[in-house]
Amino acid sequence: MEFNAQIGDKIKALAIELTRIRSVVGTTGEIAVAEKIYEYLAQLDYFRQHPDRLRLVPVRDDELGRMNVFAMIEGKPSPTQDTLLCIGHIDTVGVADYGGLQELATDPAALKQTLAAATKFSEPALSEILSDRWLLGRGILDMKTGVAALMVLMEYYARQPEALTGNLVFFAVPDEEGNSAGMLSAVEDLAALQAKRGWNYIAAIDTDFMTFRYPGDENRYVYVGTTGKLLPCFYIYGEETHVGEPFNGLDANLLASEVLQRIDLNPEICDIADGEVALPPISLHQRDNKTEYSVQTANTVNLYFNYPTHCSEPAEVLEKCRVKAAEAFAAVIVRLNIDYERYCALSHIPFRRLPWQSNVMTYDELYQMVKRERGEEIDRILAELIETLRERRADDREVSMAIVNEVHKHCSDKDSKIVVYFAPPYYPHNFVRDGDPRSDRLLAAVRQAVAEARQNFDYPIVTRKFYPYISDLSYCGIAAAEHMDKLTENMPAWQLTYRLPVKAIQAISMPVVNIGPYGKDAHKLSERVDTFYSYDAMPLILWRTVQRLLGAS
Ligand SMILES: [Zn+2]
Repeated sequence: MEFNAQIGDKIKALAIELTRIRSVVGTTGEIAVAEKIYEYLAQLDYFRQHPDRLRLVPVRDDELGRMNVFAMIEGKPSPTQDTLLCIGHIDTVGVADYGGLQELATDPAALKQTLAAATKFSEPALSEILSDRWLLGRGILDMKTGVAALMVLMEYYARQPEALTGNLVFFAVPDEEGNSAGMLSAVEDLAALQAKRGWNYIAAIDTDFMTFRYPGDENRYVYVGTTGKLLPCFYIYGEETHVGEPFNGLDANLLASEVLQRIDLNPEICDIADGEVALPPISLHQRDNKTEYSVQTANTVNLYFNYPTHCSEPAEVLEKCRVKAAEAFAAVIVRLNIDYERYCALSHIPFRRLPWQSNVMTYDELYQMVKRERGEEIDRILAELIETLRERRADDREVSMAIVNEVHKHCSDKDSKIVVYFAPPYYPHNFVRDGDPRSDRLLAAVRQAVAEARQNFDYPIVTRKFYPYISDLSYCGIAAAEHMDKLTENMPAWQLTYRLPVKAIQAISMPVVNIGPYGKDAHKLSERVDTFYSYDAMPLILWRTVQRLLGAS
């Protein structure tokens, strides 16, 4: 059987069916979709004959009892045990944004007219919503369409496994919009299978959505590799003072603002690889720890940023942040002295340089200093603190800050300082470098597949590096052990409330590609998929990429 137009129709019908099973992240709907996928594949002769190759696998330590779907097709034996991984997430974000129309949010047929009548949309959204060309619904773009495509792909090869050389593996996973519990559990299974069967992972394909990059952008994108992200944090300790003696203290809020000014949206510290620029860091949180009104200035502030990466490892991001913090600290001292000198002149009092010294350290440096001073005691204190934080089910960011705060409490150095550290989550980037044999094989397959789609269709299809939306693809590879130390040593929550299966990710580490449907407004109530491209060119690119990577010659 050859690739044909019916494949797109089949994917479309299945995408609508999957959308109708509501599977908001953190609900049992995720289990219902997993069961649906399992049943769909289970009726195929191939999986009837090989029931061990299709399984519902419980997600490790999951309170909701969610499941991954695992399916594999063994083609002709590959001397190198080549194995191609396909992943798709089965959860969606919530439906609260649909307001009174929540009931219809996952009913593509009914949603269109009702939503257009009930909501004021501007153009082109309104025409698109009303046109037959676009399908609406929570999850239809992100990413029930992609999951449907992978199901039909598995069906296609289940009917003709001899068309493959090597293994085609499919994992459908929940919780991508949450904490990636499904993927992180799948990674451990994939590492175990690799060890047991000697599999050689050649690449991972995800079929998550893609959209325009800027207003007016008509391109359709296939992304090789993915962006990653870190959450660098700044614990800023000033010296509190009464407002009646403002120059007698160092306002932690002022220090924090200066750090924010130097990091927020600063292109200078954007990550650039192969000429592709990652988004700049942006603050997600800036708060002082004062709980009441008083005329004393704040003495601690916690500040953190979303920091996308293309190539910088945690140690490099840590260093960039430390440098920016040191610059900010020095600038504040200069400015305070200038202001104070002016104030003294106006008030006719003698000026003396203010005593502040720049003091920036990493969490690990702070912890080691306290450990030298207090020995094992600090670990006992932290263990107790973590126990109470766990009981309160404190957020990972809160846990991280509380640990830094506690360690600092027991430090003899009470001078103003900035402590740079990391909080969870960590999403590694996947940089598919030309020149590496596996990367070159994937890049060539994708480029040829895209070239064929360009010949068959009129869409402006562009191959780029780095899928720009954080996804499970991040867990198909991670920094080498020597780069991980700087992250783990400086992430207070590491192995306490936050864990990653680092060894398993390192073991399976492979280049990745996202071949996704095209649409708009993922995570918004106007979430919609363009049936053009998504059900014609996209399947062709997916099929041809798989064929080039794993097709039997
Ligand atoms: Zn998604």
